[in-house]
Parts: sequence; C-alpha cells; structure tokens
Amino acid sequence: MSAAPDFAVIGGGIVGCSLAAFLAEAGARVVVYEREAIAAGASGRNSGVVQHPLDPALVELYEESVEHYATLGRGFELPADPVGLLLVTDDPERLEPEPSEFPELRPTLLEGAALRAAEPALADGLAAWRLDTGRPVPPAAAANAFATRAREAGAEFRIGEPAFLALDGARATGVTVAGEHHPAGAVAIAAGPWTAEALDHPQGGLTPLKVRVPIAPLWGVVVELELPAAPRHVLEETGIKALTQAAGAPSVLFSAVTARGISAVGSTFTLEKPDPEAHAPGVLENATRFLPGLKGVKPRGVRACARPSSADGWPFLGPLPGLEGVSVASGHGAWGITLGPASARLVADQLLGRPAEIPPALAAGRS
Ligand SMILES: Cc1cc2nc3c(=O)[nH]c(=O)nc-3n(C[C@H](O)[C@H](O)[C@H](O)COP(=O)(O)OP(=O)(O)OC[C@H]3O[C@@H](n4cnc5c(N)ncnc54)[C@H](O)[C@@H]3O)c2cc1C
Repeated sequence: MSAAPDFAVIGGGIVGCSLAAFLAEAGARVVVYEREAIAAGASGRNSGVVQHPLDPALVELYEESVEHYATLGRGFELPADPVGLLLVTDDPERLEPEPSEFPELRPTLLEGAALRAAEPALADGLAAWRLDTGRPVPPAAAANAFATRAREAGAEFRIGEPAFLALDGARATGVTVAGEHHPAGAVAIAAGPWTAEALDHPQGGLTPLKVRVPIAPLWGVVVELELPAAPRHVLEETGIKALTQAAGAPSVLFSAVTARGISAVGSTFTLEKPDPEAHAPGVLENATRFLPGLKGVKPRGVRACARPSSADGWPFLGPLPGLEGVSVASGHGAWGITLGPASARLVADQLLGRPAEIPPALAAGRS
C-alpha cells in the first residue's frame, strides 16, 4: 500500500478483524496493527459460545452478529440451531427470577429428574433455567475467519509491534509504531482491554482520553478437557452478570461450553493477570460441584485471557467527542464474540460516513 491508508485499525481481535473486513469491503484502504498475533487476546482464548446476552440494550447487536456469522464461512461454522443454555445453581433458593422479558428464549425451569433427563452430565440437587440459545464455536474461529475476509478485500495486517494513536492537536494523524509515525486518514481503536492504553500512550501524555474510555481487563482462566460424557448444553452458573459488570473481587464461576468434542470449563474473574496453571485446580474443583464426571479427567490445556470490561457492561462504540478522526470499538466484556461483528459494522458505517445508528447508550462519548 503506497499512499497512506484511509483507516488504521489498532487490534486484531474479533472486533478489529471484523471492522477491517467491513471497511475494506466498502472499498477503503485499511491497515490493521496487531502487537502479537491475530486473536492473541480473548478473541482466541474465550469459552466459545455465541449466545443471547440477556440484556435488552444488547439484543440487536447479538441478532445482527448471528446474521454475520451465518454467512461468514472461511473455517467458521455457526451451528444452525442453539444447543440450549442452562443457567444453573446448586442453591435452588438463589435461582434467579425467570428471564420473562425474553419469551422467545422459552425459559423453562428444570429441577430433579427433569434436569437430569435434559442434561445427564449434571450433579444431583441442582436447579436451572433452560433457555433456547447458545451456539458453541471454536474460540479463535470467528476472528481468524474475519481476518481472512479482511485480507481478501485488500486489508493489510502489520503484526508484531504495538501501535498507539498519533494526534496533531485534536486531530488523528495515524499511529505511532516503534517510535515511527504511520499516517492514516482516521484511526479506529479495537485493542480490547488495552484500548485506553492505545489511546493514551505515555509518549502522548493524554491522560484525559484514557479517563474517557474506562475499559479494564477482567481476567479469566479456562481449562480444556475431553470428557467421556460431555454436556449437551452450554452450562453457566447463575450470577455472571454481577461479576462481569463491576470488576469485582477475585472469584470463580462455573461455565462449560463444548464445541467439536472439547469442553472449555471456566472461569475466573480477576483484576490481575493470573498464572493459568495455578488457577486450573480451583476452576476444576468448583466445576466438579456441577459436573461430577470431571473428576480425574486430565486437562488437555489451560489458558487465560482478559475481558475488555466496562463499568455498565456495555461496549464503547464510535467517535470520541472533541477529537477528529478517532473512533473506538471495544468494551464487550464477557460477550465480545457474541456481539463484536455487529458493533464493528456500526463503527464501520460511522467511519465511512454512512448514516450512524449507534445507540446513545453504547456511544463511545457517553458520560
Ligand atoms: C474466559 C473468557 C471467556 C469468554 N467466553 C466468551 C464466550 O463464550 N462468548 C463470547 O461472546 N465472549 C466470550 N468472552 C469475551 C470475548 O472473548 C471478548 O469480549 C472478545 O474476545 C474481545 O474482543 P476484542 O477484539 O475487543 O479484544 P481482544 O480479543 O482482546 O483483541 C484485542 C487485540 O488488540 C491487541 N492489542 C492490544 N493493544 C495493542 C496495541 N497498542 N497495538 C496493537 N495491538 C494491540 C491485542 O494483542 C489483541 O489481539 C470471554 C472472555 C473471557 C476472558
């Protein structure tokens, strides 16, 4: 690419790759800057489920993302039908109220023999809401497929060094990589939990920008196993919303997602980057309360990654007020695979000067 690109995208996760694909397919010249590898962050290491977000503010992003995934291909395969989500608890007294605002998910209360029949892998004495959602996918498949699609449309990927926003006054001039200026017409920052850092590198001394995009890492450890009798459903202990919204005290909540015979069992919620090997026994011990068949099964692997968490649980999308040529696409917390492509499409439209439909509640400039 000889002339400066129209857009520099910082971050090669699900959001950055899908954003690059939408921009390049519209005819724009795009360079993606990724410091490590495509899907090096949570977009390659997540639990691997596309599921209803159970939040009215995010339903449209979910539904549109499912549409994008249905035609994505390039090694990505969206199961045609949901396998079902069980929101499960071992303290039936604390079972969450029926999620009645989503009748389309056909919430069904299951306990005792009915729960055992629906999901034989579960322990006795549990209770669950069954919801008609949950499509398991291999963790890195979506980001890799969008990266392929972006390349096919002419986007260029520069991998191996961090990039930081470069400004001249209030106007973006491109990015800085290893001290070198790379010009671009506008910059989109999709650096996941590190979005604030990419905006606000100490070189620039732009602390107020960081304050305006309060996205922080909330780390999770996931253990991968091949279970002789893997669960049929996506399983999730109740209470995840409270933990993922406010970066709370270190904790662990059970979840299990099985894609292509491999179960991803999680997960922790910590502010500090964890040592995955040290946390794996605790994750498995907690999970055994729900899946007794886990006991004694040797893990295939363990991984850690960071959720890009915002205080209200909603992403930050679109232009940053007061700056010219700077947009953000990040902050999807625990649901970036589920919501990322539709968020990217909204930000792509805004960058391309098409009518912007970013809901005010999700706008990057919200207070
Ligand atoms: C344990 C766990 C399980 C999860 N399970 C699910 C799930 O089942 N379903 C679901 O929908 N979501 C899930 N999520 C959430 C989901 O994985 C994330 O929301 C999503 O991957 C975030 O995508 P992203 O593109 O915003 O960020 P990331 O995937 O973090 O990508 C950002 C990229 O930017 C790069 N980068 C950072 N700074 C710079 C820089 N300065 N210059 C260049 N590159 C930079 C990083 O290397 C990284 O590759 C899970 C998260 C965790 C932690």
